Amino acid sequence: MKWWISGMLLIIFIVLVIPSFIVRRCSISESKPIMIESKEQTIEEVLTIDIKSEENEPFIQLYDHINGKIIELSLEQYIVGVVAAEMPASFHIEALKAQAVAARTLAVRKMREYGGQGCSKYDAEVDVCSFYGHCQAWISDEEQKKNWGSSYDEKRKKIVQAVEETRGIILRYQGSPIEVFFYSTSNGKTEDSEEVFSMNLPYYGVVDSIGEEDAPQFKGIATFSRDEFVKRFKQYYPNSKLTVKNIESQVKILSYTESGRVDEIMVGGIKLKGKDFRTIYNLNSADFNFEFSDEEVIIHTTGYGHGVGMSQVGADKMAKDGKTFIDILKHYYIGVDIETVY
Ligand SMILES: [Zn+2]
Repeated sequence: MKWWISGMLLIIFIVLVIPSFIVRRCSISESKPIMIESKEQTIEEVLTIDIKSEENEPFIQLYDHINGKIIELSLEQYIVGVVAAEMPASFHIEALKAQAVAARTLAVRKMREYGGQGCSKYDAEVDVCSFYGHCQAWISDEEQKKNWGSSYDEKRKKIVQAVEETRGIILRYQGSPIEVFFYSTSNGKTEDSEEVFSMNLPYYGVVDSIGEEDAPQFKGIATFSRDEFVKRFKQYYPNSKLTVKNIESQVKILSYTESGRVDEIMVGGIKLKGKDFRTIYNLNSADFNFEFSDEEVIIHTTGYGHGVGMSQVGADKMAKDGKTFIDILKHYYIGVDIETVY
């Protein structure tokens, strides 16, 4: 090839081919971030299903005990996070609505804006905390996404609907928000507040809660080695005469409450309440009985939770039988008024 032909080809290559590469590369690198950005926006839009805010809606200050942060959010936004934490989203919509009203009642009773005392557990001036053992459980939108994964959309929508359809509704007794109690599964009957919390509240009593037999928590078993059973009791009552050898003769249920839970029990010469025995052995319920073997003490329980007020499984059962959230609430909270607060 002659030198000038090679030179011409090189010039043609430089002038025509290389710029087209540069232009294509530039256009790719410029369009790329735009594509990613729009995709991210779409995901974000799909994942965050929020409740509408109303102008007259109060705000609540929450202490998120997991992240150690104080959060302010609208009351209904807060209730969405409580229902998500306190009841399985697979439950019937009317049961979720009953749970939303119970959760809102507890919140309003604590809110300083409505004359409540707020939460006293943490060194933070807030209305409520997110610890289930003190105020009531609450989980953030991020935690809901983590828990529910691909079913987030469907579950979040259902809970938002339950909260929206009960917006502002609480339970009152003689004008004041009631002291709300609820739990997972009953033993077939609810318990009086006097038996569990030594509180004589007129809207609690013993009512039937039927159809819970198929619930996963209805029957429970707690097994202890004979050594462990004695050791644990003696941590609370060191003077007890209970020994590994005398368990059969030294453990005796003395009486039952009206709902069939253990009222009093005698253990190694110590008389105690069934509810306190339940705490010592971390039992699902105060409805329990014993089975003894050469090696073990087996405790069978019925129900899950203290039994006062609404059984969540019972609420789901009532809803599936065609009852509304109002029917459910009026069944478990006797003689209450169902009213709006704002
Ligand atoms: Zn609290």
